[in-house]
Amino acid sequence: MARRRIVPIFVPNWGCPNDCVFCDQKRISGSPLPASGADVTRALEAAKAQGQTGLELAFYGGSFTAVSPALQAELLRAARPWLEDGTVSSIRLSTRPDAVDPAGLEMLKGHGVTTVELGAQSMDDGVLAASGRGHTAADTVRAAGLVKAAGLKLILQMMTGLPGSDREKDLLTARRVIALAPDGARIYPTVIVKNTPLEDMWRAGTYREHTVADAVAVCADILPLFEAAGIPVIRLGLNPTDALSAGDAAAGAYHPALGELVRSEALRRQAAALLRDVPPGSRVTLGVAPERVSAMIGQRRRGVMSLQEEFGLAELTVRAVKTAGNGVSLVDVRP
Ligand code: SF4
Repeated sequence: MARRRIVPIFVPNWGCPNDCVFCDQKRISGSPLPASGADVTRALEAAKAQGQTGLELAFYGGSFTAVSPALQAELLRAARPWLEDGTVSSIRLSTRPDAVDPAGLEMLKGHGVTTVELGAQSMDDGVLAASGRGHTAADTVRAAGLVKAAGLKLILQMMTGLPGSDREKDLLTARRVIALAPDGARIYPTVIVKNTPLEDMWRAGTYREHTVADAVAVCADILPLFEAAGIPVIRLGLNPTDALSAGDAAAGAYHPALGELVRSEALRRQAAALLRDVPPGSRVTLGVAPERVSAMIGQRRRGVMSLQEEFGLAELTVRAVKTAGNGVSLVDVRP
């Protein structure tokens, strides 16, 4: 999926009929106020003043299609002049699976929306109930079908480590999300945000924290499933914000470079499988795609050093090779 420059508009908690236990969109997005048509105009005027074109306008947070049609139209109408002059070439928004219907999708298309993101979060109804989501996995299957039938691009969001979930349920969710054949996915390991019901559950001992290590372990299994299916994972982990980094992330899987940690671990596991039959004391060169070299080496060379130690290698180097695809290959083994 080609990456475009994005103009983000946050619509915190707009339209949400309930409170998911993990969510405080005002803190997650770093924006305490709901957006208006004037915000859209201001953001796009600023982008145009810099001579930018072909932008993607993205409404994040909240549940866009759950607000009144008049409010949806106000935000989208504000974008129309910039759609017409080419400053904006696509519009995406995110919403809940139970707030999608064919007439609403047609309205969005008529206003130039190109991509709808659905918060699936889990495909296990027990986990969805324990997380206060207020919808079922069947709602997600139905909504995903409607988005695709409307000719819109579909992005699905899933979470790991939600209340009532475990490794098997997280993997099952990934497989069921992949089976819906989205155009892309976002994976958000659960973060315990301050002043949310989840924080209360955690402090009361009824929810066990999904640590960074837990998230890396399960996502290193999930990421290759998406890659094997050819579905781009366009985000892994919450976008870092100053507020989250300063303590609003009370606990859980918050790490500014979570995606990099997961990619490193997934590559490390592939490399370990290749090195199992290599005699100790060997000098080994591994090959990975150029854009994966730093993930393979790992932060502070930890990936390479842990493999070298685990397999007793005299030397382990990593080389960029164009043929490696998403994986790791054994380029050279010398005694
Ligand atoms: S539906 Fe989305 S925005 Fe609304 S409370 Fe749940 S996670 Fe937050």
